[in-house]
Amino acid sequence: MGLYVQKYGGTSVGSLERIQSIAHKITQYRQQGHDIVVVVSAMSGETNRLMQMATTIQKYPDPREMDVLVATGEQVTIALLSMALKEQGCEARSYTGSQVKILTNSVHTKARIKHIDVNLIQTDLSAGRVVIVAGFQGVDETGNITTLGRGGSDTTGVALAAALKADECQIYTDVNGVYTTDPRVVESARLLQTITFEEMLEMASLGSKVLQIRAVEFAGKYKVPLRVSHSFEEGLGTLITIENQEIMEQPVISSIAFNRDEAKLTIIGVPDIPGIASKILSPISDANIEVDMILQNISAEGMTDFTFTVHRNDFEHAKNILQQIARQLNATDIQGSKNIAKVSIIGVGMRSHAGIASTMFTALADESINIQMISTSEIKVSVVIAEKYLELAVRTLHSVFNLDQCQSVE
Ligand code: ASP
Ligand code: MG
Repeated sequence: MGLYVQKYGGTSVGSLERIQSIAHKITQYRQQGHDIVVVVSAMSGETNRLMQMATTIQKYPDPREMDVLVATGEQVTIALLSMALKEQGCEARSYTGSQVKILTNSVHTKARIKHIDVNLIQTDLSAGRVVIVAGFQGVDETGNITTLGRGGSDTTGVALAAALKADECQIYTDVNGVYTTDPRVVESARLLQTITFEEMLEMASLGSKVLQIRAVEFAGKYKVPLRVSHSFEEGLGTLITIENQEIMEQPVISSIAFNRDEAKLTIIGVPDIPGIASKILSPISDANIEVDMILQNISAEGMTDFTFTVHRNDFEHAKNILQQIARQLNATDIQGSKNIAKVSIIGVGMRSHAGIASTMFTALADESINIQMISTSEIKVSVVIAEKYLELAVRTLHSVFNLDQCQSVE
């Protein structure tokens, strides 16, 4: 019999009926003899509703009070779920983050977990109870309520699983698991049975919303087996694992990620001298704007062009800053585009296979898709292309890397 931490997200507890069906599922797991610790989010939309109330009263809400406020969302769902379980004859007890003692630092609205006290939970488990813990919240050294940042219940789940040395942390959500790419774009996208932590981390940072980045990082660091599956549909979902574990034949590329979140800026005709990159990029980062991809062209007659991408929301701000820099450097011109998209191929198999990037570039060229920028890491290659070709590019790469076909291992 196993010890499982099960996390249910906002849509899974979005109505009283759903809370009752979750309770039914948990009761069945208990009847099979498993020990169950449940982490829940607030009912879907509730955290946003609370935050809106706060900003109506105070334009920039006090962070400490914001945490006191938004932590109430999860306090509602833990109590209701516990009642629903008792109603079905399953013994349960709910706890807030501070009752358990999920100790965090004091950085309100984005606190980090330092330690979790497992005594209370273990006592309840030995007494045969299901333990329900409020996600997303903790308490600092002085007793202030803290929260972990949006989507933080995933992190609570993983951290609890690590502290309790659980057999698995199961994230129940509104999708069946992790797909080779977004099934809304590529019909033949397949559900992955397994994916490695590193691949999942790349996917999360490239815009996949299935799991919170921090939760994946945490799970990788503490080697917590993590499974994502659907709250209300049958199926084993996707298991996020350590590389090569039990996998006979690792596919070279496991998934194609994409996003339309970025915009591109180019400064033309700057002197190609030491320090130029820092002259251009330091004022951007001083304004707290994150730069993703960077490209500096080869110089002609001592002059060069310099291109980088930022989040689309930061485009105007970055452009204003760049205009000032252009004046200082006597640059010829600046250009910008919001009509770009980033497409990435991800796979740990890239480490041991040469020529993956060129296969990607050839496939895009065959479709006459122009690559504007490229960036790589050990396990991914990303390209920037015109946004209008995004869907074509994703479908092409999905098929070129054999993701449409049947995956090897059963
Ligand atoms: N309720 C919080 C949010 O909406 C935490 C979570 O759902 O994970 O961000
Ligand atoms: Mg949520």
